[in-house]
Amino acid sequence: MSTTEGNARVPVAGDKETGEPAESKGSDLIKFAKKLSKRYRCAGEGKFSLEDYPKDGGSDLGSDGKALAEKVLASSIQSLSEMQDKLYAQDRWSLLVIFQAMDAAGKDGAIKHVMSGVNPQGCEVTSFKAPNAEELDHDYLWRCMKHLPERGKIGIFNRSYYEEVLVVRVHDEILKSEKLPAELFTEDIWKERLNDIGNFESYLNNNGILVVKIFLHVSKKEQKKRFLERIDTPEKNWKFSSSDLKERKYWKEYMDAYEHLIRKTATERSPWYIVPADDKHYARIIVAAAILHALDSMNLSYPTVSKEQVAELQRLKQELLNED
Ligand code: ATP
Ligand code: MG
Repeated sequence: MSTTEGNARVPVAGDKETGEPAESKGSDLIKFAKKLSKRYRCAGEGKFSLEDYPKDGGSDLGSDGKALAEKVLASSIQSLSEMQDKLYAQDRWSLLVIFQAMDAAGKDGAIKHVMSGVNPQGCEVTSFKAPNAEELDHDYLWRCMKHLPERGKIGIFNRSYYEEVLVVRVHDEILKSEKLPAELFTEDIWKERLNDIGNFESYLNNNGILVVKIFLHVSKKEQKKRFLERIDTPEKNWKFSSSDLKERKYWKEYMDAYEHLIRKTATERSPWYIVPADDKHYARIIVAAAILHALDSMNLSYPTVSKEQVAELQRLKQELLNED
């Protein structure tokens, strides 16, 4: 898939090319954001190459990019909040949003901003770090399954089972620490894991859980800038760890692993979004649009009330009104 597909442009005030009015309405902004996000969507069709996807899409927003991105994000958050309310009320579908990225690509910020309008009762965020002893005593999906979203809810995975074909693939000493029977360490292991993940997501889809996978595509140059910022800003020191520098040295290996896993696990019902992440504001509107796209595909609506239930409500209302 090429990044020039879709050809969407976010409405810029007074933009001649898009013909948008100077004051774009919220719904127009969302429509454009959703169209824009399609550029970065990979649903498994055609050949996939990470190289075809940009790391900086911010210039698409025009000269007043930051202000416009904030406007688009605010409209998207409002819309997300309304859709989540219906998702919760309907209590049938659920949504799993997976975030994967190199360090400092902006996972935490994207989650914080995009989900800021979501009702905490209907949402759970889980961060997956290196597995502990109990987790290593189980298959790798075990710890993730415990945090799958209930019906009507949104689950956010900050890293996920995809680490099993990323960090574990890049550092095979981790694989050796996983307590697998020795005869299962074969050269097919990555192929098997990717197949299993694909089957697992298909199982989730068949059970009413849609999966949206976000890869925040940051450049090595931008990562360096953000690391330096973390080192130079006392309030950000806590965000930096020496292991971040160690992983940076394996950039190429990680990119190869990402490319392979996206190629093998992107499907229509569980697509990947390769989100340009060098511009945080731009990244957030694409993330929000991707989530909106998935919720939209569920055709959500509030449960309808039968004639009998309406009559019963009226009777109860009278009872309340007749109270002393
Ligand atoms: P931050 O942006 O705060 O750095 P983070 O997601 O990188 O967030 P860390 O605590 O720095 O959080 O890192 C978690 C680490 O755990 C990552 O390096 C990740 O690769 C590692 N990890 C996650 N899952 C696994 C796994 N299954 N096996 C081994 N390591 C894992
Ligand atoms: Mg980290």
